[in-house]
Amino acid sequence: MMNTDELRESLLMASKNGYARISPEEREEMNAYCRRYMDFMDACKTEREATAWAVREADKRGFKPFTPGMEAKPGDKIYYNNRNKSIALAVIGTESLAKGANICAAHVDSPRLDVKPNPLYEDSQIAYFKTHYYGGVKKYQWPTVPLALHGVVYRKDGSVVTVTIGEDDNDPVLMISDLLIHLAGDQMQKPLAKGIEGEQLNVILGTEPLDGEGADLVKLNVMQLLHEKYGLIEEDFLSAELTVLPAGKCREVGLDRSLLAAYGHDDRVCAYAELDSLFAIENPAKTAVCILADREEVGSMGISGMQSHYFEHFMGTLCDAQNVKLEDCFANAFCLSADVTNAFDPNFAETCDKRNNAQLNYGVALSKYTGSRGKSGASDASAEAMGHVRTALDSAGVIWQIGILGKVDQGGGGTVAAYMANRNIVTVDAGVPVISMHAPMELVSKLDCYETMRACKAIYLA
Ligand code: MN
Ligand code: MN
Repeated sequence: MMNTDELRESLLMASKNGYARISPEEREEMNAYCRRYMDFMDACKTEREATAWAVREADKRGFKPFTPGMEAKPGDKIYYNNRNKSIALAVIGTESLAKGANICAAHVDSPRLDVKPNPLYEDSQIAYFKTHYYGGVKKYQWPTVPLALHGVVYRKDGSVVTVTIGEDDNDPVLMISDLLIHLAGDQMQKPLAKGIEGEQLNVILGTEPLDGEGADLVKLNVMQLLHEKYGLIEEDFLSAELTVLPAGKCREVGLDRSLLAAYGHDDRVCAYAELDSLFAIENPAKTAVCILADREEVGSMGISGMQSHYFEHFMGTLCDAQNVKLEDCFANAFCLSADVTNAFDPNFAETCDKRNNAQLNYGVALSKYTGSRGKSGASDASAEAMGHVRTALDSAGVIWQIGILGKVDQGGGGTVAAYMANRNIVTVDAGVPVISMHAPMELVSKLDCYETMRACKAIYLA
């Protein structure tokens, strides 16, 4: 008969901090991986920038742009640039697509402040942009932080110009004001959700009036500066996609440098994990597919979102090339919906069920389900689907944990998982645990980033 120690060891789970489990060599690889990830984050703050980055890197590695009717032979590398806002990449496997594909799907849009179509105005000799926030934000977090302007403008002459202001060390930054504490008696009595309202998220663009007569001389000066740099006239804002987001680079955090702070880890931390691992595989058995989706933060609808038929167009063409029915491919495919979850934060312990919550440095977090109020909106992975991932990750030696977003009835969230599962693709959620998710600066652990990349690789090769 076993004693209790032996019984405990053979019967009970004993999860361990990832730092107790990785070798010195893995630690070195982890640091190298995170340096690459930091560069990616500095270059990519919007879905357009991430898509452009993926296209550039795919081109370098011999991926071919998708064309209708193209071939799909084992070893071929193909990408589908969906209107510069989302992208799907595939490395064709040695097995037929009739046997399915191994898909990893992340998103590359993040919460931010989108510039309104008629945005530029002057009030009290200060020029501003009006904005409308995109995705779930706590509005009070956005005033008094350095902001940058990113996007594209379709000009009157039909040319498209790319705008980036606030990222170069010599650039000015933009800012939203907050009320001084001395006069904030009324504001401080409001609930957090009302302390700063949506129509107060007006971005300061300038204060110097042009020398001259008439109204709006500060606004006119700002417009002139935009005209000098980008050839813009005010009407061009009507056909623009400009967004305001936190300025600055991805930084190491903590005296031990174990964490990374950046804008938009959600979900570029998983997007990068998918890309970096896809670029490292050659001739997989099953076709490996990497998706960087847009519009997840607002429900995945629209032409560049995961509900869009562009994915059928892409996968259908690959299947046609192998005389396979798309339905058969989907029915046998597996998808890792690679998206972040929350990391347990002792400052807000009461919002979580600690036994089922992801923890920093315990590796990539698998979520059986997301959703809210009785799992509403969740795709809820089956025992078999969870078992498949468990086996794949364990065989590859990936450090992983369970992560469920918050305690019951505390709130919730969603991912692209349900839209993949609706396509008859077995889908499981997994990703990097995040502290301060959706804040202007989010925190992740280097170890979890690295293990998420290893998880994507294990799934591509499963
Ligand atoms: Mn996400
Ligand atoms: Mn999100």
